[in-house]
Amino acid sequence: MTDRRTDEHGDSAGTNDADEPPVVTASQLATHVVCPRQHEFEYDRPITPRATSDDRVRRRRRELLRRSIVAGLQLEDVTPDERVAAALRRLDRLWTSSEASYLADEQAQYDEQAIRTAIERYLSTDGHDHAEDVVDTDVTVGYERDGIRYETTVDAVTKRDGQYLGIKYLPDMNGVLQVTWYDNNVERFHNGEGYYPRQIGSFVEAGVAIQGLINEYGLSPDYDFAYTGLLETTRPAYESTGEIHVETEQRRFKSAFETERDELNELIEDRADAIIDGKTDPKDWRFSRIAERSCKYCAYRDGCPDWMESEMSFTDRRLSEKDGGDDGD
Ligand code: SF4
Repeated sequence: MTDRRTDEHGDSAGTNDADEPPVVTASQLATHVVCPRQHEFEYDRPITPRATSDDRVRRRRRELLRRSIVAGLQLEDVTPDERVAAALRRLDRLWTSSEASYLADEQAQYDEQAIRTAIERYLSTDGHDHAEDVVDTDVTVGYERDGIRYETTVDAVTKRDGQYLGIKYLPDMNGVLQVTWYDNNVERFHNGEGYYPRQIGSFVEAGVAIQGLINEYGLSPDYDFAYTGLLETTRPAYESTGEIHVETEQRRFKSAFETERDELNELIEDRADAIIDGKTDPKDWRFSRIAERSCKYCAYRDGCPDWMESEMSFTDRRLSEKDGGDDGD
């Protein structure tokens, strides 16, 4: 395992000594799958996305959840209540130093309460079991293939009955592949049958994590990786005033990884080569689909020349269509 500085996704930055292989992180790969220009804005250029973008709000939630839960998981020989108390103390410290992005005080209060409830709930139930089996927390795992080192950071690694499980905590499953839908997700993405780049990015990240776990911990009888969405559903609790009801969801990737390993590794290697070669032009990577589906959610849209250009071309087309119509009348 490597102790490296991590980026805001939690993955280590892709720099290295000259005699070491270049490092490509799972977050870089996932971003490049969505849009090569987005990767450039995120990793190569100092451009800060809009503070109110959904991505930034979600990243903040993830950091609050992840860092608080890791504080709880790291305690040994404690009760679930003591674990929850430690996690909430960490949350209190993080919350005051990171308030941002809320349009109203009520929204901030609701979010804080929902996050507190999610932490309490998780560490009193499944999280307590995970803590008892925890092997590592907040750790970078990786492996090398064809002269490239692939890395990702997992929030917790547990071991029970010989099975290693890497866990990444998220606010929700938004953008995470529903692995039970198809058994050829990467092929469908590749041949254009299905266009869901963020979900494929989540699969890429899971694949890097599983191969990193195998490399770091040895070929154990079993290994798996799970995304855990701690705020999958939130709503005011009807049964008790002032409280919030939260539901958690977990998606495991072992089976999908084993089924689609070759196609997934081909995609990983293809995007890693593009990153190392500095290929950032989205026109080389399904730009019509990007413009149609991804740009409207992109935090960098306001400063993106490719998006402006595509908008201009749509405007030109609309104008010329209108002109054509007028001429014909
Ligand atoms: S606005 Fe569109 S083209 Fe530009 S970086 Fe974002 S997704 Fe890519």
